[in-house]
Amino acid sequence: MTITDRAYAATICGDCLYTSANSWDERETGRPLPEPAPLGRLHPQALVSWDDVEPHFSWHACHGCGCTLGGDRYDVRIVEPVGA
Ligand SMILES: [Zn+2]
Repeated sequence: MTITDRAYAATICGDCLYTSANSWDERETGRPLPEPAPLGRLHPQALVSWDDVEPHFSWHACHGCGCTLGGDRYDVRIVEPVGA
């Protein structure tokens, strides 16, 4: 079995950024899991990385969950396994 990775730049919303760092915990966020689920459109083993990411406003859909509400977006790098 050969596993390779696919890395690419993407823009995700605040909920997806939070989930990638902490996973979603209703006790911490004080909110139920959002719909659509954060990071729901990514491979289950995808890694999201960033360095000192600053939010910028956008109406574009979030790459991680597909949310189309306008709001903060963060430019990140995503690594997904391919061919697993
Ligand atoms: Zn999102």
